[in-house]
Formats: sequence, C-alpha cells, structure tokens
Amino acid sequence: MQTECIFCNIVNGKIPAKKIYEDEQVIAFNDISPAAPAHVLLIPKKHIANLLEVAADDQQLIAHMMSTVPHIVKQLGLAEEGFRLVVNTKDNGGQTVNHLHFHILGGRFMTWPPG
Ligand code: 5GP
Ligand code: ZN
Repeated sequence: MQTECIFCNIVNGKIPAKKIYEDEQVIAFNDISPAAPAHVLLIPKKHIANLLEVAADDQQLIAHMMSTVPHIVKQLGLAEEGFRLVVNTKDNGGQTVNHLHFHILGGRFMTWPPG
C-alpha cells in the first residue's frame, strides 16, 4: 500500500469511487473521466506499479484479474456487443496512474488504431 497512490487510496477507502465489483484480491470502479458509456477500472488491491512490475508470485493474481473481466463485462451488459480491454503501460502507453489497472471500455463502437 502506497499512501500517495490514488488507486491504493481507493482500495483503502480514503478516496471514494463507484464500486462495480470487489473481492479479496481486486476492486473494479467507474473511471472518473469516462472515455465510453461504460468505463470501468479493474485493479489489484496490492500495489503493483505496472505490467512490467508483475512478479512471479503475482501470476495467480493476474490470472484472477483476467478471469474477473468476463464477470464484470456481463454485469455491465457488454457481453453481447463486446468491449475493449486496455492496459496502458508507462509513458508511451499513456499510463498516468502508476498502479496496475485494466480499462474495461464498452457501450459504443471502438475505433482502431487507438490515438
Ligand atoms: P491511465 O491513464 O493510467 O491508463 O488511466 C488512469 C485512469 O484513472 C484515467 O482514465 C483516469 O480518468 C482515472 N482516474 C484518475 N484519477 C481517478 C480517481 O480519483 N478516481 C477514479 N475513479 N478514476 C480516476
Ligand atoms: Zn497503488
């Protein structure tokens, strides 16, 4: 837990967020600045800075995050029409919060390539 990390502070309740899903390992909440009609961030409760910082010990956690995505997508009603999963990583990836997060985006057609 890093006291200055926005997402750690969402995990510990110091910063409020609209929770979509929570279990012992992860939490999902609405993005404060949605880029699509549905825009949820799925994060590990454990502070991991980005995908490059995932340790061997974290493999079960990452697998759990991936398996949680379909659950959230179905809960949001996005399963039929589809969605996009994005993991921005470091500067060129556009990462602005240094706590690993999966963006789950849906509710509209997503263009390709991304900007
Ligand atoms: P990144 O740019 O690192 O891939 O994604 C960070 C995301 O976190 C952005 O989409 C941004 O809108 C969102 N975000 C930043 N601060 C907060 C916050 O305090 N609460 C919530 N719910 N989302 C946030
Ligand atoms: Zn953190």
